[in-house]
Amino acid sequence: MIKTISYLGLGTMGGGMASNLLKAGYKLTVWNRSAEKCEPFARKGARVAETPADAARDVDLVIYMLSDDQAVEEVVFGANGILRGIKEGQIAIDMSTVLPATSLREQEAYSKRSVDFLDAPVFGSKKESAEAKLWIMAAGNKAIFEKVKPVLEHLGQTVHYFGKNGNAAAMKLVGNLIVALELEALAEGLVLAQKAGLDLNTVMEVVKVADFRSPLLVSNGQNILKRDFSTSFALKLMLKDGNLIEKFGTSLQSPIPALRLVQKNLASAVALGFGKENASALIKALEKEAGVEVKARSASKRSSRRFARAT
Ligand code: NAP
Repeated sequence: MIKTISYLGLGTMGGGMASNLLKAGYKLTVWNRSAEKCEPFARKGARVAETPADAARDVDLVIYMLSDDQAVEEVVFGANGILRGIKEGQIAIDMSTVLPATSLREQEAYSKRSVDFLDAPVFGSKKESAEAKLWIMAAGNKAIFEKVKPVLEHLGQTVHYFGKNGNAAAMKLVGNLIVALELEALAEGLVLAQKAGLDLNTVMEVVKVADFRSPLLVSNGQNILKRDFSTSFALKLMLKDGNLIEKFGTSLQSPIPALRLVQKNLASAVALGFGKENASALIKALEKEAGVEVKARSASKRSSRRFARAT
């Protein structure tokens, strides 16, 4: 049974997940590149490790949730990386969104040290992470998956097993291909609605109920109308994922024509300086091209317009 866990990467997603492991009663060690993010966890009784190697020592399970492949490279394979501290019999789980090839490289390096490894990326964002409502996919040895499943169930509302290592990482890219296209569709649709002079609140009422509805379209659409681009999933991470999907799709000769266009729009929005805002800020590149800003009219303006029409 897993009792001691080290958690590395206390960003938007990792912070919520590590908190939920503490709440679940696991003995927790934390490490983060910017040390100040460890402080709230230290106050709640977690041990703060000096380095990833230090974090990896003497725990049953090491979990990490880092920005990208480069961060995984440094934290796992680096001079003071996890591989320098982890030993035979321990388990490591990478929950970051990375290339399946990176997961396979990790698995190979861990297996040389007789360490078991799962790739286990997630769907859901800041809110689902904080509320332990993530949708988790995991891949690797089945017996190890069964052993860590109770831990993952403290982080998410579903946990799906995907077979051999790399498959969960691949599923994450499949899902984010759909997410990227949904966000682009929403942004293009709202800009067109604005240009056509439609009432955007009513547009969103339809998006909420029609047969193409999705929670992602609704929450992002409502926030765009409020001009709320506070970060749950950073635009620069969506671009990072677009680049991963392009690499992965190309390597398998799988056609991704729409993704390539979205990738271009994501890159334009990042180049305009919106990379740290939420991924929905993708719309700002289209707004610039269209010369409009998509924004809900205030309730008072809408009712006075209705009144003016009626009189
Ligand atoms: P985030 O808030 O930017 O956090 C990134 C974490 O990675 C931070 O702890 C950061 O440390 C660390 N990091 C970055 N580069 C590093 C390096 N070179 N060495 C060591 N640590 C490094 O990102 P996030 O939103 O939590 O996303 C984390 C992962 O989950 C990404 O792979 C993302 O694609 C994926 N994901 C995100 C969401 C979402 O909605 N946000 C949803 C599903 C999956 P510092 O604190 O020092 O910067």
